[in-house]
Amino acid sequence: MPTLPNNPNHVLVLNCGSSSLKFAIIDVNTGNDIISGLAERLGDDAPSIKYKFKGEKTTIKLAANQAHAHAIDTLVDLIKDHNLDEQLVAVGHRVVHGGEHFTQSVLIDEHVIAGIKQAATLAPLHGHANLLGISSAQASFKNLPQVAVFDTAFHQTMDEVAYLYALPYQLYKDFGVRRYGFHGTSHFYVAGQTAKLLALPIENSNFISAHLGNGCSVCAIKNGKSVDTSMGLTPLEGLVMGTRCGDIDPGLFNFLTTQLNYTAQQIDDLLNQKSGLLGISELSNDCRTIEEAAIAGNSQAMLALNMFCYRLAKQIAAYMVPLQKLDALIFTGGIGENSDIIRGKVLTQLAFLGINLDPQANLDARFGQAGLISAANSTSKAVVMPTNEEWVIALDAANITKEL
Ligand code: ADP
Repeated sequence: MPTLPNNPNHVLVLNCGSSSLKFAIIDVNTGNDIISGLAERLGDDAPSIKYKFKGEKTTIKLAANQAHAHAIDTLVDLIKDHNLDEQLVAVGHRVVHGGEHFTQSVLIDEHVIAGIKQAATLAPLHGHANLLGISSAQASFKNLPQVAVFDTAFHQTMDEVAYLYALPYQLYKDFGVRRYGFHGTSHFYVAGQTAKLLALPIENSNFISAHLGNGCSVCAIKNGKSVDTSMGLTPLEGLVMGTRCGDIDPGLFNFLTTQLNYTAQQIDDLLNQKSGLLGISELSNDCRTIEEAAIAGNSQAMLALNMFCYRLAKQIAAYMVPLQKLDALIFTGGIGENSDIIRGKVLTQLAFLGINLDPQANLDARFGQAGLISAANSTSKAVVMPTNEEWVIALDAANITKEL
């Protein structure tokens, strides 16, 4: 964990997607939200901002076709109307792809913008949205320093053995084709919190963290550093996710184009939007809906859950190769923090690692509670640890800007 700044400070955290903007003002001393919300359907015919302030939820309708700049203007008015600007010290931006250039969070200047543009060639949709968010925020908050926090930065400690694809080396050298990994802010945060919970020194502990939300990834963390992770060049690689397929045979591309006349865009949509839990269950990408259907006897929902858990358990077991010894397996993200069913199924398959499930503790670990879910006689522990990426972004932004 970064160290806390000396004075109480608030940071505006922005997370720009292609048609959405998540925002929160975070008190860096507590990690609490002062205000939080989501602008969605940006650029569409009915964009809106939904936010929560002092426990009350409000929706503001935006004019049709308005996008990020307008949403940020509206957000600025909202912040000023509630006098929340007085305590703001910085804006922290979640930037999805930092390429190889960014190994930590940085103060945004023109060189950083150029670096983000360069990395955006690897993730055009996300990169373009992140740049839009930065330029809109710079225009609206002229007096506030802006900091970029990268999803990829934590994984820059991976060795080339772990990050290279077995492709012609030239593709890596000339175009940066390699594995980067994502969810770095979350993996970093939950590893630090788990070390605290278990009273272990992070610099001498081995963890595997499973971030299971709409996107899912596993990370092997050795002595506080990421040594391998399941997402790759893009957030499509690795586990079965809500709508993403994770690992597949790349030969599928040839089959789909030559036999079924798919275009590259159609394949991209298929693998990113129509696969995963949704594709197998033919029901939903939402884990809760699938669990309810499986309990009610829907066999495809049960198959989707079983595939999700089998692939996850297999990936976790694979990370014993770089780690050799495991202190704790960490579950986080909406599914990891709440689904006792998924945690139970995964841990049952991993008993050979010396993790014995405590069924009651597993049932009890829900609604943002951190805690141990392994039995006392386990040689490696299992932990549920709620993530808080916004707090890490706020802390980094406050720390980087406090000496300015
Ligand atoms: P994002 O990646 O968009 O941040 P979240 O971390 O919020 O997503 O995770 C969303 C996922 O968490 C959804 O699949 C949702 O069904 C699942 N989830 C949330 N609460 C529960 C619950 N009580 N039981 C099972 N799954 C849950």
